[in-house]
Amino acid sequence: MPSFELSEEHQALSDTVREFADEVVAPVAALHDAEHSFPYKVVEQMGEMGLFGLPFPEEYGGMGGDYFALALALEQLARVDQSVAITLEAGVSLGAMPIYRFGTEEQKQKWLPGLAQGTALAGFGLTESEAGSDAGGTKTTARLDGGQWVINGSKEFITNSGTEITSLVTVTAVTGTSENPDGSIRKHISTIVVPSGTPGFTVEKAYNKVGWNASDTHPLTLADVRVPQENLLGAEGRGFANFLQILDEGRIAIAALATGAAQGCVDEAVRYAGERVAFGTTIGSNQSIAFKIARMQTRAHNARLAYYDAAARMLAGKPFKVQAAMAKLVAGEAAMDNARDATQVFGGYGFINEFPVARHYRDSKILEVGEGTSEVQLMLIARELGL
Ligand SMILES: Cc1cc2nc3c(=O)[nH]c(=O)nc-3n(C[C@H](O)[C@H](O)[C@H](O)COP(=O)(O)OP(=O)(O)OC[C@H]3O[C@@H](n4cnc5c(N)ncnc54)[C@H](O)[C@@H]3O)c2cc1C
Repeated sequence: MPSFELSEEHQALSDTVREFADEVVAPVAALHDAEHSFPYKVVEQMGEMGLFGLPFPEEYGGMGGDYFALALALEQLARVDQSVAITLEAGVSLGAMPIYRFGTEEQKQKWLPGLAQGTALAGFGLTESEAGSDAGGTKTTARLDGGQWVINGSKEFITNSGTEITSLVTVTAVTGTSENPDGSIRKHISTIVVPSGTPGFTVEKAYNKVGWNASDTHPLTLADVRVPQENLLGAEGRGFANFLQILDEGRIAIAALATGAAQGCVDEAVRYAGERVAFGTTIGSNQSIAFKIARMQTRAHNARLAYYDAAARMLAGKPFKVQAAMAKLVAGEAAMDNARDATQVFGGYGFINEFPVARHYRDSKILEVGEGTSEVQLMLIARELGL
């Protein structure tokens, strides 16, 4: 029989994170959003709970869980605060995971324990001004000189790159070129770990974003940045293939986050529709409002099934690229659609920033853009269909 029932362990984790989200994260979410301040205290507590180490083995300071556990935690956090959820998502799936997947034993021993315990954060620097959806457009370069990589270039929109506890950013850079059989030039893109504070590595002023205001996002400049040759992560020239794998997995995590956002909008709308009185009755007793919320719940449910399926395939060692793309697509759209509908249910209050639905309205748009736009997901799905 097909089953989407959670195991006892996964259910317990989900319940614990849900309680933490409601009791610790939610009460300070509006404040951090308004102040555009990074929630250090919350992140510290998440570290103590082991959330940053969920999918990593205990020998590297992790909890010995799996990627689905991370996804469940993200869903519960994002219900109440997408900024906190993306800090965890980017810290684990983009920051620490490349080191776990592609690092040497020495690199793992050196960097993973702090990242897995949440006392340090890592960023993943892929996007550039001319390399977003078309990530092969990378212009940042790295050349070897006297046993060191000398890196030059810039990055855009890098999450977790400038906090007080950021220990490193892994950047993609062109480390050489070769000629394809048809005469075209192939760039060798590699990934290199750049520790925070390395001379020439500048974390520029934080963006003034529409949403995710309590998460940390900066442009980066790399001017003759020198790091040891052994900071190369994975084989030279394998960076492109490696980050595509990281992004495939990351889409499951983002889909889970988006599912949480979609569900948070439902929860808020149900509560408000049961309380708010207009024309002598609660607004939820109007079928148009009730149906709107029923549709929102259906979107959240479908998004959840989609990411559960992609995660199950991933954990079973089956191909999951297309399922992850579909999950990211439907969940991102569910979050945005639900945020729009929830603000409608709230009327004028939905337009006031301190209300959670207003925050979801601003936060959710990026879920149709980050870690591959909806169009990029559609390209992957269409390609699978032979189109
Ligand atoms: C808050 C935030 C956090 C981020 N965090 C990170 C991070 O930690 N690390 C990182 O590396 N990046 C990060 N990003 C970057 C993000 O992943 C990119 O913005 C995203 O991949 C889109 O790239 P782009 O902005 O260059 O848009 P573009 O690629 O320029 O796309 C612009 C539009 O054109 C569409 N488009 C492009 N090509 C096609 C095509 N062939 N067919 C149809 N439509 C197309 C796109 O779908 C989109 O609608 C972050 C961005 C933000 C805003």
